[in-house]
Amino acid sequence: MLRINDNFNRLQASYLFVEIDRRVDAFTAKNPDADLIKLGIGDVTMPLPPSVIREFHRGVDEQASADSFQGYGPGRGYDFLREAIAQVDFASRGVSVSPDEIFISDGAKCDSGNFQEILSPDATVAVPDPVYPVYVDSNVMAGRAGVWKEGRYDRLVYLDGTPENGFVPSPPSKPVDAIYLCFPNNPTGAVATAAQLSAWVEYARSHRSIILFDAAYEQFIRDPSIPHSIFEIEGADEVAVEFRSLSKTAGFTGTRLAYTVVPQKLTGTDSDGRSHAIWDLWNRRQSTKFNGVSFPVQRAAAAVFTEEGQREIQELSSYYLENARLIRSAMEEVGYRCFGGENSPYVWVESGGDSWEMFSRLLEKAAVVVTPGAGFGTCGEGFVRISAFNDREKVTAAIERLRNNL
Ligand code: PLP
Repeated sequence: MLRINDNFNRLQASYLFVEIDRRVDAFTAKNPDADLIKLGIGDVTMPLPPSVIREFHRGVDEQASADSFQGYGPGRGYDFLREAIAQVDFASRGVSVSPDEIFISDGAKCDSGNFQEILSPDATVAVPDPVYPVYVDSNVMAGRAGVWKEGRYDRLVYLDGTPENGFVPSPPSKPVDAIYLCFPNNPTGAVATAAQLSAWVEYARSHRSIILFDAAYEQFIRDPSIPHSIFEIEGADEVAVEFRSLSKTAGFTGTRLAYTVVPQKLTGTDSDGRSHAIWDLWNRRQSTKFNGVSFPVQRAAAAVFTEEGQREIQELSSYYLENARLIRSAMEEVGYRCFGGENSPYVWVESGGDSWEMFSRLLEKAAVVVTPGAGFGTCGEGFVRISAFNDREKVTAAIERLRNNL
């Protein structure tokens, strides 16, 4: 008899997007002419930049000729891409990351979901609340989260994000083995200062824990004092890995390219007390279960790290940031307290009550769809997330409706 992994029974059904769809469907059935504006999803709307498209085509053409054809690529990604990333994303900011420490992949979702495989099954894991659900669910599947009791898993350590701490939690009082952090944050839009990140690095060094740092939104940082990478903090290369993605940065949500930085210095200990390089374990894991990103996509991605590509992606992120600014100032104008939306594409709006109630109010009165914060964790209740990923005309129209109807 086929026995399934019982841990899957412990997953909480993701009611969030199902329930959003149900309510939106009911609304459109009642109001068939309503022109719905969706500011709920975190997907980009702008096309790939011209230089990326050019290199994408070149990569495809190279596959058409025997002298440039590429079969299976190098496991960690092509040198031309890893070298460009090391130079442009790190060396140019004074951070030392070697191309060897970069693992190219097809998504920060898979990498941030898969990384827990190399942790001990009984490792203690800390997750932010509100949270990008992948960190929690991947640990539930692995049996590391315990059971669901009163709205939380009993073996996870929750790091509460609140208006008081600006949605940047401090290290917990007890020791944990692994810590997920995400800045700029999804869903709150919070960013962490160097001092706040240093406190985490210090904590991880003193408890010999690992920080799994998700920097999928670093491109949206404009404040020069805010670190783009955990590796800007001294000593982080002994305690952290970092997930990056071209999804939001360069419009790659449908093209797929991301990377994870695993420093050579980072080690963990087995049950016999022997030390192992995390790089070796991740390399072993990836070479067993992953066969690389397609060659034309790696060509396209390399264009992002040219001068022209950097200029283009800067324009892309500025476009979404301007949307975020418009959304935030409109919501503040009508009296809502807002967080995020400054170095981030997400505006986190205090609903002043039940987040589903605000969701319904925005839907009914303005035909605007947002995301109720309760779907991201206990601490998300009382907030809604408004995404800046949309066309300017839609954002402007949504703002007009919010101004007139709230
Ligand atoms: N990390 C965070 C915090 C995200 O919000 C997302 C996407 O929404 C991802 C990772 C996934 O990125 P990718 O498209 O590279 O899988």
